[in-house]
Order: sequence, then C-alpha cells, then structure tokens
Amino acid sequence: MSALILGHKNPDTDSIVSAIVCADLYKKRGLDVVPAAQGKPAPETQFVLERFGFEAPEVVTSVAGRDIYLVDFSDRAQAPADIDEANLKGIVDHHKLGDVTSSSPLECIIWTAGCTNTILKAMYDYCGIEIPKNIAGIMLCAILSDTVIFKSPTTTDMDRKAAKELAEIAGVADLEALGMELFTAKSAVAGCSPRDLIFRDFKDFDMSGHKVGVGQLELVSLDLVADMMPAIEEELGRIRAEGRHSALFLLTDIMKEGSRLVLASEDPARVAGAFGVEVSDFMWLPGVMSRKKQVVPALEKAFRG
Ligand code: MG
Ligand code: MG
Ligand code: MG
Repeated sequence: MSALILGHKNPDTDSIVSAIVCADLYKKRGLDVVPAAQGKPAPETQFVLERFGFEAPEVVTSVAGRDIYLVDFSDRAQAPADIDEANLKGIVDHHKLGDVTSSSPLECIIWTAGCTNTILKAMYDYCGIEIPKNIAGIMLCAILSDTVIFKSPTTTDMDRKAAKELAEIAGVADLEALGMELFTAKSAVAGCSPRDLIFRDFKDFDMSGHKVGVGQLELVSLDLVADMMPAIEEELGRIRAEGRHSALFLLTDIMKEGSRLVLASEDPARVAGAFGVEVSDFMWLPGVMSRKKQVVPALEKAFRG
C-alpha cells in the first residue's frame, strides 16, 4: 500500500496543499505516496484547489498499519487517534516540535518558516526538481494564507522569496490581489453554524496536562460575524464542556491586524491574563495574528506557571 502524506485535523489550506505538493515531490523522488487529509477542504482551500485545477485529497481518519509522512504538524492531538499504530516515515513542518515519535529512521524537516510550502519550495530546489505551474499556484496560495499576506509576525524572508519565485512560475502578477481573493473566500460565513466556524481551523493542545482548544477565524472584517457573537459564545461554552479545560476562539481582523478573543474556561482570568487582558465582553488583542507564535507560547507559559 502507498504511504500516506497527511496534514493535521481541521485542515487549513497549507495542510491540504502541503499533502498534494509533497506527494508530487516525493513521487518524483521515486517514493510510493498518496496525499491525504483529515477532513474536507474549507471554503478558502476549495477556492484554491478549483482555481488551479486540483481535486481534494482522500479523507483519512485511520492510519493503523500504514506508512505515513506528516505535513504541517507533529502533535499527536492533531493526528488520527490510532497514530501510534502507524509507521512514521517523515515530517515536513513549521510548528513547534510535537510529541510524535518513530521506530525507524525518518526524514524530518522542520524550519521556522511562515508556511510548510516555503519549506517544500526549498526541497524542490535542493532536489533539483522543477515545480509544475499549477503546483506553484497552490504553493503560493498556501504561503499567502499562512502568512496572512505577509502580515503575520511568523513571516520570514524565506517566505517572501519563495512566494516571489512561485508567483513567477505560476504566472501570478499581483500577489496582494490574489491574497485578498483568498481571504474573501475565507471570510465566507453566510449559512455556517457557529460550530462550523469555530472548528474550521481548530487545534487542541496538551498544556501541562490540561486540554486546551484554540480556534481561529481570519476575516476581512469582524462585522461579518457581529450578529452571530452570542451564538458563537454559547457554542464555545459547549465545546469547552466536551472535555476541555479551556476553549479559545480568535476572530482575527486581517485589515486591523489584531484579534478578538472569545473565551470559555475553567479559569478565565488565567487565560486572559496570558495575553495581558482582563476578562470582559470584548477582549481585543492588538497585533495578535498568529496562533503558533503569539497564542500557543503565551498559553503554555500561563499553564506552566
Ligand atoms: Mg496548518
Ligand atoms: Mg502551516
Ligand atoms: Mg493558520
């Protein structure tokens, strides 16, 4: 059976695109692999796949007995429940090091880039393998998405350079315009339930023995969800009660470059305090755009202390 290349739960554009791209690269290196995802594409990802002519990868929720490569994550909490029964062959990622392990030698490439696709771009170059035009298009979109059009503090010069080179290959002249198209697609909230919005990009973490879930929705304007706020707060309370110490939902305004924090917690003061704010009906975190760089480290510190 082919090895699976698998992104994280509640897949975002980078995790789905990374699986497709990494499969293209590894097949050209002679490996027997197929891309997979732990869920269906969100609206932004659907837009990206349609724009450049790709099908969504097969949805996989069980990996026992399979050879697997992880892309865009290395935390067991973001993997299928039977991850420990799989044979881990490799990782390509740009997050904090997670808690997976392997029983045989593996290929592991983790960089502090703003996007997994920036690393994959460097891997094509390192291997001397040409990047197809449509593959370059989806890679570029993943970088624009993960770096929030280069506004996120996670953005590095490597991301800007990779995006520029990929745009040339893909024939995209205006990166900003493509980025705004992506975030407009991502801002599609009409007809979505509060639960769908919270789980669209949601990750669970183990913080010193406490299960903490953090969802993030990046919007071109928070007005888009103003009417839904009471229902969102109520739903987040239910999500917390499903076995979590805390559930956070970050509504990131990509134009104002900050996030509104919605919080349900056994200890709200401790969580809000992690971001230097007091618990209130409207907690605004100026400049906070990145879960991995600004939110998760602050929470881990607060839970350790
Ligand atoms: Mg991701
Ligand atoms: Mg990513
Ligand atoms: Mg993200």
